[in-house]
Amino acid sequence: MERARLILKPREEARIRAGHPWVYDNEIAGIEGRPEPGAEVEVMDARRRSLGSAFFNPKSKIRARIYSRIPRAADAAFFAETLERALAWRRRFFDPERQSVRLAFGEADGLPGLTMDSFVGEAEDGSVRSGAGRWISAQFLSLGVDSRKAEILEALAKVFPSDGIAERSDAPVRALEGLPPAVGVLAGSVPGRALIEENGLRFGVDLLGGQKTGWYLDQRSNRAAAARHAPGRRVLDAFCNAGGFGLACAAAGAASVMAVDSSADAVASVEANAARNGLSRLVEAREANAFDLLHSLERSREKFGLIVLDPPAFAKNRASVEGARRGYKELNLRALKLLEPGGILVTCSCSHWFGPGPFALMLEEAAKDSGRRMRTIEERTQDLDHPIVSGYGESRYLKCTIAEAV
Ligand code: SAH
Repeated sequence: MERARLILKPREEARIRAGHPWVYDNEIAGIEGRPEPGAEVEVMDARRRSLGSAFFNPKSKIRARIYSRIPRAADAAFFAETLERALAWRRRFFDPERQSVRLAFGEADGLPGLTMDSFVGEAEDGSVRSGAGRWISAQFLSLGVDSRKAEILEALAKVFPSDGIAERSDAPVRALEGLPPAVGVLAGSVPGRALIEENGLRFGVDLLGGQKTGWYLDQRSNRAAAARHAPGRRVLDAFCNAGGFGLACAAAGAASVMAVDSSADAVASVEANAARNGLSRLVEAREANAFDLLHSLERSREKFGLIVLDPPAFAKNRASVEGARRGYKELNLRALKLLEPGGILVTCSCSHWFGPGPFALMLEEAAKDSGRRMRTIEERTQDLDHPIVSGYGESRYLKCTIAEAV
């Protein structure tokens, strides 16, 4: 079948040539042919030079997402090859047979809108023993991959077989693609909760009901980096979710850990995870709004030796960046006031809209307003199974600065 062609307006191709995979609705001069929603189209610049093959979605502002820089079909063979490449990258830094990893990081792995995490461990109900199970948690966040689930599952079964695949296509961005939320078991069987290992600790992952894919793998190495400073300190883990940072600190020798999240499920997970690792005595989990809690801790003149701030993305688009900056600054200012002299701040932002430059500037201002000076120890980012690629700024999203408040 002849493919439809999507022709760009003059001079709209530079960003795409540099590696960006999206074609916006207002960049298109015309379409030749009548592509169905989700169809494969060829993207061409105004001088009719091919820029690659893309998934077409007439309902989205991102009208096309490029999956290949050379014209080709997005069939099972394409997905197998692309997944192989993604897996080869993970194998350089991790052991995906034994370790939980993000297998596919969407556009950054040439798989527009496809996120897949692999969780290695045991089933909590005892049906699968330690290290013997492997389950995939997948998010299909673009029409292109949503309408090619069969091909993707076929490729995955060949390249990286698993015991079961959970679909977690319940992220709000699905609506922007005109897709309803979808959660369920796509293949094999998926336990209610998997127990995985990270940095020598055991964590429960709710594959069908937890946030996002069930566990934030991107913070793996940052949790270990934070824990290096924990021995002997009183730790506050704000926006703790299931306690990844706080428990790593407790295991590393923190004097005590207060873990805070506004979600009751997250707080219950922290308690269960603390118990699993014999750390309950050291860990107190609280269900609270972190902004309010920081405020009341300040009023009661509490002090901490290490504070982790890992809030959700405050900036979800360009328009909300200024509001987000104020939110991040308020949080960091409050945390700085709670730190004892020589205390450590581990501060994160997972919004790519709020880039490393603005993030550093925000920290400067928070330090100035708090009357404290900060000495940077490390400026970190997401772990290597969430690759950062040139030309696609969205792939550089996580900031994690570790600094000492002097
Ligand atoms: N630090 C976690 C990941 C944090 S994700 C880890 O290492 O896995 C962000 C968390 O912030 C979510 O668990 C969410 O429930 C929580 N959250 C969102 N708004 C909040 C608020 N105002 N106060 C406290 N927690 C909040």
